[in-house]
Amino acid sequence: MRRPRRGEGGVVKKIVALAVLTALLAGCGKEGTPPPKGPQPSSLPSYQVQSGAGITGSPTLDEARRRGHLVVGAKEDQPYLGQKNPATGEYSGFDIEIAKMVAADLGFTPEQIEFRTIASANRETALQNGQVDYYVGTYTINDNRKKLVGFAGPYYLAGQSLLVRRNDNTIQGPEDLAGRKVCSAAGSTPYQRIQKQYPKARLIAYDTYSACVDNLITAQVDAVTTDNTILMGYAAKVPDEMKVVGPLFSQEPYGIGTPKNDTVLRGALNDALAHHQENGDWRKAYDATLGLSGVPAPTPPPIDRY
Ligand code: GLU
Repeated sequence: MRRPRRGEGGVVKKIVALAVLTALLAGCGKEGTPPPKGPQPSSLPSYQVQSGAGITGSPTLDEARRRGHLVVGAKEDQPYLGQKNPATGEYSGFDIEIAKMVAADLGFTPEQIEFRTIASANRETALQNGQVDYYVGTYTINDNRKKLVGFAGPYYLAGQSLLVRRNDNTIQGPEDLAGRKVCSAAGSTPYQRIQKQYPKARLIAYDTYSACVDNLITAQVDAVTTDNTILMGYAAKVPDEMKVVGPLFSQEPYGIGTPKNDTVLRGALNDALAHHQENGDWRKAYDATLGLSGVPAPTPPPIDRY
């Protein structure tokens, strides 16, 4: 197990890898391949903005009101979940919709949300330091993290899976990773699970899953592991190159991360999630985003008001 430094493996290789991925993700695949379908802005729901006046006693929200906008942590390189358009700076995806729908109940319009990209390994620190008001980005709720931050939700249940090159039939499940190079994001639950439960795998960590995918395409790693939702997004963008294989081998309930002691904010976010599940917004948002990557539409898991 080792953690490569930035630039390791040669600058030229890295540039080629990035160029390949950029071209593939831009839909410039093989001739005759139709461009992959992305979330269509017109089909996204809009959320009724509430006054939020009844929510009192949240230090996070008080500060956001003073500031005039929310600062929300997210991912920027996870197709259908949280993706930043490099040209416009706009974020889109299921997690982004979740962030917007709950913001509406707190009294903030989408224009009053400043999204900030935070990598998996930096989420707890960002919430503890007040860099973000809340975080929506494939963030698994678990007891270790609950010692450091709060969680509203869950709003979705994912599971760990594997992404391999399309022509590779040697990896069908986590047992097949022995002796193979597998890449995941530093600080993530999938990384920790491979480290503990599949110690024979040659585990490599990058800051982001898209860096892992670059390395999969250029055959510098044999597999990428994280939640099925994230992997299906990458595979859906370049189905000629990569496929998701094997069973789901964990449960990853996604929560909205909050500052640990702001229980008023946590309660308000839980109320907001429940409200948008009941009025159909959750489902509409799902169908317009994550649903497009081929992940079957689930019933949202019950909210855990701990
Ligand atoms: N859901 C997992 C986690 O929270 C993996 C995805 C991610 O790193 O965001 O660690």
